[in-house]
Amino acid sequence: MVSRVIPVDPFDLVVFGATGDLARRKIIPALFRRFCAGQMPDTARIVGAARSAIDTAAFREQVRAAIGEFGGGRDCPHDTMQGFLSRLDYVCIDARGTAGWSELAALLPHDRVRAFYFSVAPGLFGDLAARIHRHGMASAQTRIVVEKPFGHDHATARALNHELAEHFDEGQIYRIDHYLGKETVQNLMAVRFSNVLFEPLWNSQYIDHIQITVAETVGVGGRGEYYDKSGAMRDMVQNHLMQLLCLIAMEPPSRFDPDAVRDEKLKVIRALDPVAPHHIVRGQYEAGSDGAPGYREAVGDPRSKTESYVAIKANISNWRWAGTPFYLRTGKRLKARSSVINVVFKTLPHSIFGPDAGGGANILSIRLQPNEGITLRVTIKEPGPGGMRLIEVPLDMTFAEALGPEGGDPPDAYERLIMDVIRGNQTLFMRGDEVEAAWRWTDPVIAGWTGRGEAPKPYASGSAGPDAAEEMLRRDGRQWRGINP
Ligand code: NAP
Repeated sequence: MVSRVIPVDPFDLVVFGATGDLARRKIIPALFRRFCAGQMPDTARIVGAARSAIDTAAFREQVRAAIGEFGGGRDCPHDTMQGFLSRLDYVCIDARGTAGWSELAALLPHDRVRAFYFSVAPGLFGDLAARIHRHGMASAQTRIVVEKPFGHDHATARALNHELAEHFDEGQIYRIDHYLGKETVQNLMAVRFSNVLFEPLWNSQYIDHIQITVAETVGVGGRGEYYDKSGAMRDMVQNHLMQLLCLIAMEPPSRFDPDAVRDEKLKVIRALDPVAPHHIVRGQYEAGSDGAPGYREAVGDPRSKTESYVAIKANISNWRWAGTPFYLRTGKRLKARSSVINVVFKTLPHSIFGPDAGGGANILSIRLQPNEGITLRVTIKEPGPGGMRLIEVPLDMTFAEALGPEGGDPPDAYERLIMDVIRGNQTLFMRGDEVEAAWRWTDPVIAGWTGRGEAPKPYASGSAGPDAAEEMLRRDGRQWRGINP
């Protein structure tokens, strides 16, 4: 099954921060792959912008190198690269300066879909928005794409929303959370809302609890300075994990349209209870046996109290979920790289096969990475004679296998999201009120541990995180489903 390429209208895309890490690793390679897939109209143009004083020829060489390094088109004929590079221009611009803006405007003569991707520090978003407007580049067809982090807390997110709203309507602002562009995340909605099997069971009557794990094996790497001011709660929970929680917990929207979906997600965030201190575990990784530095060494602060790991028990106070906790955890330098959602159903009220027959709860596992797919653990009879002994087996749908070799690799999240921007589809982007509501829930959690002066608990690199996180579930008579289920 070959994935269908749906044409998009001609567009101009300006990437601010085009010489930066994100542009090189994700945005430019994603655009190249869409070009290779034949999705880029003949007249579509991409303009890179940054302060670096390079010309278009040098920028094109940077792009060629980035695509070589970070994944170009798998099935891309050799000469396609030249075709792609010919679509690129570069303008030297300082987001806070005056030079280069008229030149940029001159490169965008047509009033057609015009997207500005802000792949720069968030402190520059307002400057860029104002200058785009001032130089006559903001029309009804203009869209801006902003990267995370969207604010550092509720106050800064709100200020940023106001700053952008001075120049653009909410319908023109695309706040990226690349988790929402992942194939499995959208499949989560497909599984829930297009199969009759799950929705009747999708509530606290049948679901014991839900676990969301986003585990990384890498440490903070070169992002130490930024990360130490942020921590796992701000960097991962406030956005990625909360977005996943919303998609699992939301009521069925009346239609799959941007505001209907985002209204339902917002209701989930608003129904979250404040988190009690004993429902939070924070951790910080120690040096690895492989010689890799511990967290404090990596960020250059021997007294840092920033968490590289956090586990939280969250409760949603509404009719569907009262009594079914959501356990969220994320961390760096853990034993496996794995993003997975485990929906753990309740055990049977009574087993006709007796207490010793075996078997266990049904678990629906949704794997975001690696090995994207969905597994349902079911109980069957162990084959062979000797009575009714029950065993648990997985009903597995690994997408790569289920869709066959012709299905190809699923597009990267950035490919899908950028094309959604061009199409004007905001379903997979966060709305301003959603982001603010997420901060409103996160802020008191952070203020709580800051006020108590708590230091995170050390955990061994390559482990599953602090023991206290295991203990938090043990107290509830539950256990984390291993990092790789
Ligand atoms: P980066 O490597 O530091 O790149 C920043 C880019 O912004 C460079 O192209 C830089 O080029 C340009 N820039 C800096 N100051 C500028 C100014 N005053 N005017 C115009 N351009 C300016 O950062 P990054 O990692 O690519 O991150 C970009 C944004 O994406 C940040 O908001 C970050 O939080 C977010 N993000 C990054 C990642 C990631 O994996 N890297 C993931 C998620 C979100 P010049 O120095 O030439 O101007």
